Amino acid sequence: MYDFVVIKYSEIGTKGKNRRIFENKLMNNIVLQLNHKVNAKKIYGRIIVTPKEGEKIDNDMLNSLKKVFGIKSISPALKIEKNYEDIKNKIFWLLREKNINTGTFKIDARRTDKSFPVRSFDLNKNLGEDVLNEFPNLKVDVHDPDYLISVEIRHEMAFLYFENIECFAGYPVGAGGKASILLSGGIDSPVAAWLMMKRGMKMNAISFYSPPSNNEKTVMKLIELSKKLSEYYPFNFYHYIIPFTDVQLAIKKLNVESYSLILQRRSMMRIASNLAKYSNSSALITGENLGQVASQTLENMITISDATDMLILRPLVGFEKLDIVKKSQEIGTYDISTWPYKDSCVAFLPKTPATKSFPDKMRKYEEKIENLSDLELESIKNSLVYIMKNGEIIDNYTFSEKEVLKLD
Ligand code: ATP
Ligand code: MG
Repeated sequence: MYDFVVIKYSEIGTKGKNRRIFENKLMNNIVLQLNHKVNAKKIYGRIIVTPKEGEKIDNDMLNSLKKVFGIKSISPALKIEKNYEDIKNKIFWLLREKNINTGTFKIDARRTDKSFPVRSFDLNKNLGEDVLNEFPNLKVDVHDPDYLISVEIRHEMAFLYFENIECFAGYPVGAGGKASILLSGGIDSPVAAWLMMKRGMKMNAISFYSPPSNNEKTVMKLIELSKKLSEYYPFNFYHYIIPFTDVQLAIKKLNVESYSLILQRRSMMRIASNLAKYSNSSALITGENLGQVASQTLENMITISDATDMLILRPLVGFEKLDIVKKSQEIGTYDISTWPYKDSCVAFLPKTPATKSFPDKMRKYEEKIENLSDLELESIKNSLVYIMKNGEIIDNYTFSEKEVLKLD
C-alpha cells in the first residue's frame, strides 16, 4: 500500500559536520539492519527508506526499523504529485483504504517547495474542507485529532502520511565508540547493553559460565540474550562465552569464602579487559546497580574496579529495579532472563558474600594463586565464540580455532 517510509530523527546536538556524520551513519545502519532489503536516501531533515524490488513495507519491516537507534519516528508514506487534485485524491484513497470514516482529523501541510502555488495555510484549509465534504462523519479537531494527516511538499519530492510511530531515538550505533558488555544471564546486564548501544556504542558481549555443571542450558540462554540484542545492532555481534571453572576452583582453594565472589568478579574484569583490548573495545559495561545485592556495595565496586585499568561503565547504577524490569520487558530480554538457568555455578558462590572489601587484601589473595594469569588467559582461548546478526547465529567456533590472542 505504501511507497516508502519517512524517517524522522532528532537533530538536537547534531549540527554542521556532525549532523552529516549522524545522518550517513543512520542511513548506513538502516540498510544493514534491514539486511539490504531497502534503500535509504536523505532529503533535508528526513531520511526516505524505500523497499527494493520484490520487497514491501509490512509489519516485519516496520518492526525492524523501530529497532534502529537514532530514529525518532517512522511514518509509512504515499508519494504524491505536486498538484492539488492528486494530493486530495491520495488522502481520500488512504482514508478509504484504512477504513477511516468516523472520528476527528487535522491536516498538517508543510510546503518547503515555494514553487508549489498553494500556501501551507490554504492547503490545510482547502484539504480540510474537501475531506469534510467527502467524509461527512469525520470532524476537524486541531488540538487532539485522532488522525493527523501530514502532507509534506519538499523540493525533491512530495508525500503524505497518517502516522508517526515513535521509536527509541538515541544515536546511530557506531557514533559512540566501542565497549564490551559483561553479559550474565540476569535481567540487568542485557538492559545495560541495550542502553549503551542506544547511545551509539559498538559492542561485543563477554559471558562467564561454569562447565560442566551448567553447560548447555546456560549457554543457550546467553545466546538467546545476545541474539535479541543483535536485533538492535547493525553489524555482526560477537559473543565470547568463557569457561570460568578453573579460575573458580583456584579461588575456592584459597578458602576465603566470603571474598570468593569479589575475587571472581576481579578475575572476570581482568579477563574481560584482555578480551576487550583484543577486540578494540575501549571500555567495559556491567549491569551493576548500587545496593541491589550484597555484592554491589560502593566498597565492592571500588575493589572490582581496581582489578582493571579500563573504564567500567555502569549505566544502571542509579536505576530502580522496577524500571530495569520494565525496560527489559520493553526490549524483549525479560522473558529470556527469567529462564531458571544460572550463569554461574552456585557451588562457587559464598553463602554470605562480604559487603566490604579492600583492593590490597584481594591482591594479596590473588598473589597466592600461582598461575592465576595463565588460567585467565587459557580461559579466553577456550571460549566459545558466537557471531549474531539480526537475531540469528551466523557463525560459531572455539576461540583458539580461529583467533589468536595478541596481548601487550
Ligand atoms: P544481572 O541481572 O545482570 O545478572 P545482578 O543484579 O544479578 O545482574 P550480579 O550478579 O552481582 O548482579 O552481577 C553484576 C554484574 O556483573 C552483571 O550485571 C554483569 O555485568 C556482571 N556479571 C556477573 N556475572 C556474570 C557472568 N557470569 N558473566 C558475565 N558477566 C557477569
Ligand atoms: Mg546476575
